[in-house]
Amino acid sequence: MNSLNDKYEPVIGLEVHAQMKTASKAFCKCSTNFHAPPNTNVCPVCLGHPGTLPVLNKNLVEYIMRLGIATECDVRERSIFARKNYFYPDLPKGYQISQYDQPICSGGHIELAGRKIGITRIHMEEDSGKSIHDLASDESLVDLNRCGVALIEIVSEPDITTPQEAYDYLMKLKQLVVYLDICDGNMEEGSLRCDANVSVKLKGTGKLGTKCEVKNLNSFRNVYDALEYEIGRQIGMIESGNSVIHQTMTFDARTKKTSPMRSKEEAHDYRYFPEPDLVTVYVDEKWKEKTRSMLPELPQMKAERFKKIYALPDYDADVLTQDRELADYFESVCKHLKGNNSKSASNWIMTEVMRVLNDEKIGIADYWIDPVNIASLINLIADGRISNNIAKEVYTNMLLVKDPSNKQQNPEVIVNEKGLLQVTDSSEIEKIVRKVIEDNPNEAARYKGGETKLLGFFVGKVMKESKGKANPKTVNELLISNLG
Ligand SMILES: [Zn+2]
Repeated sequence: MNSLNDKYEPVIGLEVHAQMKTASKAFCKCSTNFHAPPNTNVCPVCLGHPGTLPVLNKNLVEYIMRLGIATECDVRERSIFARKNYFYPDLPKGYQISQYDQPICSGGHIELAGRKIGITRIHMEEDSGKSIHDLASDESLVDLNRCGVALIEIVSEPDITTPQEAYDYLMKLKQLVVYLDICDGNMEEGSLRCDANVSVKLKGTGKLGTKCEVKNLNSFRNVYDALEYEIGRQIGMIESGNSVIHQTMTFDARTKKTSPMRSKEEAHDYRYFPEPDLVTVYVDEKWKEKTRSMLPELPQMKAERFKKIYALPDYDADVLTQDRELADYFESVCKHLKGNNSKSASNWIMTEVMRVLNDEKIGIADYWIDPVNIASLINLIADGRISNNIAKEVYTNMLLVKDPSNKQQNPEVIVNEKGLLQVTDSSEIEKIVRKVIEDNPNEAARYKGGETKLLGFFVGKVMKESKGKANPKTVNELLISNLG
């Protein structure tokens, strides 16, 4: 297989649908609440009753402009909507309002590890309803709540060359729409949906192979697996002397295989024509500039700032800025640090905090420890008042208190109440040191005879005797002088 991978080169383009976080639908005032009972978020407009007229949601334009500007697209001053005609039970109008030859955004890119993946276009459209086939054995049900919900479609150039790159591109896109606060990025709930166009060509040639489209990939993992399978399938076809047929494929997440769905519709099958019920979308320079000036700090800029201001390594800056809320959390911890300990704050968040997030399968928004308390824990270690090991014990106690306003979550309180402060008083430590040496005369003799590696044995005994509270540096010094 490896030699075949050297012979062929995949060509991948992704089409991503992102559901916008607008409170109401694209062309009517119906709510977009995901959890509403079936067929309650509907009105004559989104049900396509004759005589009704759609009215464009201004926030949809605002949101798509944010992404267009952030990916350095050209934002067209005048764009129009088009009707995409097709018949489907969950599309009561018989057509979908979309944009065709005049999309609002075009010609941008997303940067992946120094490489630019081109964005052909980003356009606005409406979602369809949902057909549900698995609730009843002999009938299909239709829920029209999603009908008319605002979507944007992000079409990439066929610049992606591996399943991993496709995965990275999607992660980057998700991170961006979440930072821009236009989409919740939840792929499992359908807020992000991906179709992949894939073909293979002989390496080093310009001639493209026949492409297939893999539909409805509903997780990042599925995109990766589907592409890997599909690339192998196409190479297999060509190697066995057959040719790849231009088809739409579906992916089965259980078998991890793609299979043909139907022969691919050509664009003209949709009989696109300009939507006569909506006026031209007009975006003037002033609106564009205002949107540009209101863009939040984007992940890459944030990572650069973290490296500069907090002196973090590349790796830390990348991990902490993956998620905007995690980055905010780190910054509020840093605000309450006494010395210059932002690297310790970064370590705590990347290990102890993120471990809890993973174990509990929660986001940082649901993490219950107040950043002030994490800062105060780091301050206790930095001041030499508790050791790293005691800090872990204190942290375990902090985690038991779910209410951040409860004083019992404060590490200072825990340390005082449980008597966990580090003992730095050398006369007290010396008493323990002497006792440990007396209790272990054989080891003491061997140490004096030259087995200096036994020092670790004595350190362990003293630390145990002091319940971990003795200052390790003082313990070392006193053991060496008393054993000598
Ligand atoms: Zn409606």
